[in-house]
Amino acid sequence: MRIVFIGPPGAGKGTQSVLLTELLDIPHLSTGNMLREAVEHRTTVGRLAAEFMQSGRLVPDPFVVQIVGERLQQPDCEGGCLFDGFPRTLGQARSLDEYLTAAGTPLDAALELRVDEELLVNRLLGRGREDDSIDTIRRRFRDYVTMTTPLLDYYQSTGLLRTIDGSGTTNEVFKRIREAIGK
Ligand code: AMP
Repeated sequence: MRIVFIGPPGAGKGTQSVLLTELLDIPHLSTGNMLREAVEHRTTVGRLAAEFMQSGRLVPDPFVVQIVGERLQQPDCEGGCLFDGFPRTLGQARSLDEYLTAAGTPLDAALELRVDEELLVNRLLGRGREDDSIDTIRRRFRDYVTMTTPLLDYYQSTGLLRTIDGSGTTNEVFKRIREAIGK
């Protein structure tokens, strides 16, 4: 299966992605992790992406699409994969569709994890990552609302959207996800 996860930072995408990739035995493609790795290794994309990430802004589409395209060519993606934190813009979603359609392997589902905003802020402050200052969190949430919410309409129109209630325990949320994808 090829699945996209949509949700604001702190909604639990990362945790649920790990569970889901184990269940489906597919690779976990987190663009956040891929970009952090690129920054660490000082690749061309990494050097360009670093300043956007440090200020909590989205990295421009071309850099993100390039890094994902390279990853999808790895053999472990042949049987499917889970996209965590990608796409975050309509441009990325369209690029992904073009890529997967050309490859004859379209998406199977777009999962939206829906969580209350204040719960998100509290969860992120508790996480204590270097890029998690309160201003950065609000900025990322604004980016999410203005740029990523249109993705929900996009995937709704293609019939792929499944909205999951992201509140409650990890197990409760995972059970809802399994029901949504019929696994
Ligand atoms: P994450 O770990 O998913 O929260 O991502 C950390 C940071 O990486 C984000 O704040 C963005 O700066 C960048 N990033 C990750 N995924 C994307 C994406 N799909 N599009 C643009 N920027 C991204």
